[in-house]
Amino acid sequence: MDKNELFRSIPKVDVLLEREDVAALTERYGRTLVTEAVREQTELLREMIRGGTDESAARQAVEDLVRNVERSLERQCAPRVRKVINATGTVLHTNLGRAPISREQAEKLTEIVTGYSNLEYDLENARRGERYAHFEGLLCRLTGAEAAMVVNNNAAAVLLVLSTLAAGGEVLVSRGELVEIGGKFRVPDVCRQSGAELREVGTTNKTHFADYEEALSDGTKAILKVHTSNYRIVGFTESVDAAQLAELAHARGIPMIEDLGSGVLVDLEQYGLSHEPTVQESVRAGIDVVCFSGDKLLGGPQAGIILGKKEYIARMKRHPLTRALRVDKFTVTALELTLLEYLKKESVARNVPVLRMISEKEPSIRARAEELAVLLRASCPRADISVRPCRSQVGGGSLPLERLDSAGVAIEPWDMSADALERRMLALAVPIVPRVTEDSVLLDVRTVDSGDFPAVAAMLGEVLG
Ligand SMILES: *Cc1c(COP(=O)(O)O)cnc(C)c1O
Repeated sequence: MDKNELFRSIPKVDVLLEREDVAALTERYGRTLVTEAVREQTELLREMIRGGTDESAARQAVEDLVRNVERSLERQCAPRVRKVINATGTVLHTNLGRAPISREQAEKLTEIVTGYSNLEYDLENARRGERYAHFEGLLCRLTGAEAAMVVNNNAAAVLLVLSTLAAGGEVLVSRGELVEIGGKFRVPDVCRQSGAELREVGTTNKTHFADYEEALSDGTKAILKVHTSNYRIVGFTESVDAAQLAELAHARGIPMIEDLGSGVLVDLEQYGLSHEPTVQESVRAGIDVVCFSGDKLLGGPQAGIILGKKEYIARMKRHPLTRALRVDKFTVTALELTLLEYLKKESVARNVPVLRMISEKEPSIRARAEELAVLLRASCPRADISVRPCRSQVGGGSLPLERLDSAGVAIEPWDMSADALERRMLALAVPIVPRVTEDSVLLDVRTVDSGDFPAVAAMLGEVLG
């Protein structure tokens, strides 16, 4: 058969658009998108024929035309940001959205963001209010601070704090605390950006009180302490206590600032983890301004929480950068809901997902791993499925040395490599992100909700079927 005849077998665009199945697509996606997709698919078909494809393949492609139009439309209209199942065991996974919030919180959030709210309206006095008012009192109550505000993330918080309190002067930072965290946040760079000059103090492993004393000058506007959240210097080390530094700063009439990084409000030792400095400890130590992330160990939305002395927080609220860094109603709402959970001390570890996941003990995780293994053995007959001990990480640059005893389900496929299985898992409708060792794929159950087990088993059944 000649090419011309094949070309003629391609239906005309306007004829296609009249077809019942295409009309159904128009109903769903609108005429503009459907016309575009039809044009695109018929053009692909023409190219294929021009390229000299064999007749039966061409006929099949004509047959599949409408189905391909539909697929193309589905692809274009599907959101690129999707739910994934985090089977890495890393609780604060930077690439997977860091801290999840709870379903209950998300439902309340939906109600607020799908309508109007009192975000900046003072209902009691019928006038303009402040968006920070919703959680400022709560933050103060939980931490003992005098005042609080919030910006978009902790990097923004550090920038605002230094811009407000140290621009045009020097800020003292220990050489052991010149941190870089993921996403190119480097303390020296943020300092420069704020207009403050960084004055390095001490050495990488040891910084003494006297080093700070000597570095102080008339130009010093603040002392900054940075929690080395994502690494530890071990061995022959020394750093100066925040409380001592606060005294030194106060004697000079300058503020003592601390970037806590993760910012926990509860003592992690009660969950068997090592001690992580809490926000309350910093406030008690007399630090004037403390900042930390909302979506690391706090377990809330992405935010940079700043709290401390009233006069300093008031200055930050007036700073022009604040308007550029301000949080929206999603953040305000989710943050207030997260903080409210901390009021109820006894239930906070159950109701904040991050705390629930880091505090789950190995026997409980192992029991859940056994449940998942049973489902997987049923759905994946062509793989060896076993429950194995493993260790999870907290992640998000928090508690870098900590490994939490956990349990995982190992999948050893008979007919493909572990790498191949991983790639297929990432291509699923709900991608599953596993840990991969040489010959097996491991699902660390710590970060997998039991409610997702049936779906995980069904999807893996398809992949390994
Ligand atoms: C994580 C971290 C930041 C940045 O916080 P984001 O909320 O990710 O912007 C700043 N400083 C320290 C010490 C951190 O650990």
